[in-house]
Order: sequence, then structure tokens, then C-alpha cells
Amino acid sequence: MNALEEKLQQKDIDMFRDDLITWFEREQRILPWREDQDPYKVWVSEVMLQQTRVETVIPYFLRFVEQFPNVEALAEADEEKVLKAWEGLGYYSRVRNLQSAVKEVQQQYGGTVPSTEKEFGGLKGVGPYTKGAVLSIAYNKPIPAVDGNVMRVMSRILSIWDDIAKPKTRTIFEQAVHAFISKEKPSEFNQGLMELGAIICTPKSPSCLLCPVQKHCSAFAEGSERELPVKSKKKKPGIKTMAAVVLTDDQGNIYIHKRPSKGLLANLWEFPNVETQKGIKTERDQLVLFLENEMGINAEIDELQGVVEHVFTHLVWNISVFFGKVKQVSDGTRLKKVTKEQLEEFAFPVSHQKIWKMAVEAAE
Ligand code: SF4
Repeated sequence: MNALEEKLQQKDIDMFRDDLITWFEREQRILPWREDQDPYKVWVSEVMLQQTRVETVIPYFLRFVEQFPNVEALAEADEEKVLKAWEGLGYYSRVRNLQSAVKEVQQQYGGTVPSTEKEFGGLKGVGPYTKGAVLSIAYNKPIPAVDGNVMRVMSRILSIWDDIAKPKTRTIFEQAVHAFISKEKPSEFNQGLMELGAIICTPKSPSCLLCPVQKHCSAFAEGSERELPVKSKKKKPGIKTMAAVVLTDDQGNIYIHKRPSKGLLANLWEFPNVETQKGIKTERDQLVLFLENEMGINAEIDELQGVVEHVFTHLVWNISVFFGKVKQVSDGTRLKKVTKEQLEEFAFPVSHQKIWKMAVEAAE
């Protein structure tokens, strides 16, 4: 018998399940994606909720399902419109994968989200967590849905001290949830665990005295709930210094650039910008040269207006922001000229939305 099996043997699994599900049915928050079990909507909500807080997701979810109410609508939507609807949520590969997967559902499965592990788990971007969450919530299948939240709760319940930052640790938790999950109410069980992690068994200050499964919790009995889970620190993110410019012409048009179709923030729009180096040239001079040599634009650039910082998981962007006036545009420019009204239709990453806000405020 391995260490996990020994820990499981000491638990009253039936009672744990009942306590968790009864609590969830009584206390669950009213959330828009819980209104029905439409697999497409459950799927959209689960993709949005990855790395994003519930309060942030709610308005995005409501707008998204209004604009793209079903598989067919999302499969046929223009990518620009989909990215625009996701603008500000970050991790844009999530929505690109979602749209690719939904297209496959439309073509291969006649628009019905497949209900088997093999078919649904084979779609683009559907990892073990999304697979378990969607199939358990929408189709009532007893499949574990293990994310960081669930690993935290289960590490405390079972006093598991493996490092949850290591990918292979997830399988320990999947085995544990597999042993615990209700066959009758897998949807309520998985959502109960998620809900417990979100509102009671929180990372820094778990509310053990209010916890419905306190009597089953090894960490509470040992007094180690604040030491768990074990999570090794990530490397510090690298810093990239950049200069960006909001370029306008005499008619008030604005010049924007589309990011490459691969890599970070692929296919989103941005204000022209360049990575800057410390050295003999100022940031402004580096920007002027970049515009001339790489964008085919001759421009007059003002003084520095401010700095925008954006933190990704692995990287920090420090962007010095300038405003500029276009003097000459070569035929081969890689920038797109748009009016202020048209600009609203393009999806920008958060950092460049902040840059635009600076320009709007300066013009007021
Ligand atoms: Fe989490 Fe405390 Fe409940 Fe244990 S008793 S599951 S540590 S909230």
C-alpha cells in the first residue's frame, strides 16, 4: 500500500462526500454559468476562469455568451471579434484554442459538445482540468477536475506535502479525487471542492472554523493548514524595457500595428513599439530609428509621457510612452491607419489599452 492509499484508508470517504455536497447545495454562490448545464457555456466559463477571478469573469462571460450564444456562433465568428470580446482577460491562447476546438465540434460532432473523455479530451486546448470540469458539470461524469485550488484543499485534507508546483504532483491529487468523487453527484462534488477552495479553504487564511469538512481535515488536526500546500517559488520574471508611441497625423488618424500570428499576445493590436537598450542613444532616438527603418514612418516624437508596467507570469514589460506626429509614410509601411472610432473595434492587450488611456486623458 502506498502513502496515499494509507491516508485514504483513514478517511470516512462517504461522510466527507455527503458533508461537502450538502454544504455546496446549501451555500453555493449564484453564478451565471450555474443557471443551466449547457455544455458549451460551462466550457466557456471554465476556460475564462483559468487564472482569472470569478468577479472579473462574470461580465466577460455574460457579454461573450450573448455575442456567441452557441457552438455554431463561436465557430463561425471572425477571430478579430472573438479577441475583442476577450480583450483584457489575458492569456489569449485560451480563447484561440477554444475557438479552434469549437470549430472542430461544429465540423466533427454536428455542433454538440462531445461527452466522452476521449473525444472531448482530444480537442485543442482541453487539458485534464477542463475535461474533468466540463464533463462532470455538464454531463455528470465522475472525472476529477484538479487545478491549483483543488490541490490546495486536498493537500490540507490529506496532509500531502508534495510540491504542487511540480507537474507530476497533479497525478497524486487526481488519484485522491478519484477515490473521493461521488458517482451519483460528481458535478456537485467537483464544484463543491472548487467552491470550498474559493471561499473557505483560501490560500492565506483558511476559515477552518466555518469549514463543512473540518472534521475530515488532517491539516486542521495537525495545525498545519497554513503551511500547506507546499509550493516552490517560481523564478523571478525577466524585465523587458520598451518604448511605444501613439502616432497621429494631421487628420487625427492613429497608426497601429498587428502582432505576429504566433507567440505572446498573437494577432492582437498594439501601438508601434521597440525593445530599447541602455547605451548612447536615448529611448526617443531608438524609437525614431525603429519607425524609420522598420515601419517606414518618418515622425516627430514628443517628450516622454509616462511609463506603463505590465506583469506576465514570466516577464515584466516596462514601456516608456511617447506621443508623436507622422510626417511621412512610405508605401510599404507595416502600420495600419485607423480613425478614433475604428480603433474601438480592434483588440489590444491591457498594457496598450493603458497607453491609449494616457493619450485620451492628455487630449482632454
Ligand atoms: Fe481547509 Fe481548514 Fe477546512 Fe481543512 S479545515 S479543509 S484547512 S478550511
